[in-house]
Amino acid sequence: MSKRDYYEILGVSRNASDGDIKKAYRRMAMKYHPDRNPDDPDAETRFKEVQEAYDVLGDSQKRAAYDQFGHAGVDPNAGMGGGFGGGGASFSDIFSDVFGDIFGGGGGARAYRGADLRYTLEISLEDAVSGTETEIEVPTMAECGVCHGSGSAPGSSPETCPTCRGHGDVRVQQGFFSIQQTCPRCRGAGKIVTDPCRNCGGKGRVQETKTLSVRIPPGVDTGDRIRLNGEGEPGESGGPPGDLYVQISVKPHPIFQRDGADLRCDIPVTFPTAALGGELEVPTLDGRVNLRVPGGTQSGKVFRIRGKGVRPVRGGPPGDLLVRVNVETPVNLTARQRELLEELSETLEHGGEKHNPRGSSWLDSVKSFFENMRL
Ligand SMILES: [Zn+2]
Ligand SMILES: [Zn+2]
Repeated sequence: MSKRDYYEILGVSRNASDGDIKKAYRRMAMKYHPDRNPDDPDAETRFKEVQEAYDVLGDSQKRAAYDQFGHAGVDPNAGMGGGFGGGGASFSDIFSDVFGDIFGGGGGARAYRGADLRYTLEISLEDAVSGTETEIEVPTMAECGVCHGSGSAPGSSPETCPTCRGHGDVRVQQGFFSIQQTCPRCRGAGKIVTDPCRNCGGKGRVQETKTLSVRIPPGVDTGDRIRLNGEGEPGESGGPPGDLYVQISVKPHPIFQRDGADLRCDIPVTFPTAALGGELEVPTLDGRVNLRVPGGTQSGKVFRIRGKGVRPVRGGPPGDLLVRVNVETPVNLTARQRELLEELSETLEHGGEKHNPRGSSWLDSVKSFFENMRL
């Protein structure tokens, strides 16, 4: 199978900066992530392609080899291993790979920044508009209290990794190049656990739940994210923790629909009010207001009440409330009401176009439709 150009896969030029490549990778990985494209095998293939491309272009040595010798210089089947493990990577893995810069290093074991985590928080429209403070419970990996993070059972200690002799890196011959990569045996730690801690299974970390307080600023909408610095997973080998991203999801409201800074709602109006005009009581998020409806209002007409929408979280004036009136047909008529309507109907028919502008123009359209058909 011939391979696509890695730069083309990420949609960047050959002289793109490292930062641009990172950004492009993150955008593409999000776009084709299997979690976002269930039942789309094509997206999964693209996702793997994107990961493979970034694996090379995100590493300056591999990128140089690729620039010079193409795919032959960086054949991923030539003893690479590791990496992401196919389509199983979660969003936090992507975050951690892109944001998870390597700290320390310098020949010894590496310290990794902890993974960023994502938490979806459902809130009511009222809370989204006026802001609120709430508590969330998030699963987290905490340092094991028995081995204090070493992963070794009490009384034993990790041994120096024999594969890399404690360096955390190994050199691998790849095509024309010898490339330094993370030791596959100890995954860069430089040490291996020979007698694993029973409490954490040798990982040095255990799953716990922590309670965090989140302040929701007024005006947020579905898709907005709030970052809690340092509340992600703890780092490895002394690296700093990742961040926690609280993703807002606004629950559907029984009356209002959000449309950016505007709110929309539907209001039933009686047939006589629509015909004669009158006042309607309209709910808003901060109390009721009266809306004057002119005589001859048609069903579906939208009225704009200025400033009764949402003040956006990023600043700017509040939006409007858009009220759509729906004329209601009267039901369960008494004999008297029926009589009055029949009388009304007769007088309306005599008036024709004057009283029924919509119906008349529609009838004209139907007429010309049939006339054109006969041609
Ligand atoms: Zn432990
Ligand atoms: Zn090693």
